[in-house]
Amino acid sequence: MKISTQEIIGFITTVFILSGCSKTSTTNPVTPVIYTVPAVYSKIYGATSITSDGTYITIKTTGTPDHKSVYYPIANTLYEAFSGTTFDSRTFVKNPNSIATQNFTFKIPLNPVVATNHASTPLGAMGVSLNGVPFFNQYAGPNQPLTNEVMSFDKYWGHPTATSQYHYHVEPLYLTTVKATKSSLLGFLLDGFPVYGPEENGAAVTGLDAYHGHTSVTADYPNGIYHYHITNTDPYINGNGYYGTPGTVTQ
Ligand SMILES: [Zn+2]
Ligand SMILES: [Zn+2]
Repeated sequence: MKISTQEIIGFITTVFILSGCSKTSTTNPVTPVIYTVPAVYSKIYGATSITSDGTYITIKTTGTPDHKSVYYPIANTLYEAFSGTTFDSRTFVKNPNSIATQNFTFKIPLNPVVATNHASTPLGAMGVSLNGVPFFNQYAGPNQPLTNEVMSFDKYWGHPTATSQYHYHVEPLYLTTVKATKSSLLGFLLDGFPVYGPEENGAAVTGLDAYHGHTSVTADYPNGIYHYHITNTDPYINGNGYYGTPGTVTQ
């Protein structure tokens, strides 16, 4: 006896419908695909959620630091007065802004790849750090260096915008000295490539390319990966644009 493909499909469909309607069946015939989030992303401890659709990792954060800052409202338990010197031994000068809760959604490639044209990083969030605070680039405004902004960095080298977005342009000192180390993974840029601290194998990193990174084995990527390093000289986190193709951020 010959059975056509259509008959087989018809038979399977019937079985599914029957089992779906059966009072004794508890199994749904259509199983949704569940994408697991690779363990490395769980290092972003400040995220409110991290999910994967198999192509992108979606990271949601409130953008508020988990450390003390002179920029929290005085009534906040994380407020702490600050004076003296800050980044680059500059005398601290507080800016008029304060920290407020944000609503960031970072969508970054699960499998980052090098781009053929390296898109410029935007003003505003260009990546996410472990505590959920965004990374900003090396400019205070369009092509304006940070020269006059660094003096407003708080004790952990972050500060808020006029729209109350707290951010790091340079090394996030709380992460490199309290929560992790100077050679640790510190976050990801929007192109999905990881960001590390200023040291590697116990010494200050050298030999970075135009995008402020290089390819090598890291503790989190034993097979090697392109990664950025944060240093204390301009451009600090990223150089001439993203190494890879960036995802998106909504805020
Ligand atoms: Zn800034
Ligand atoms: Zn490295």
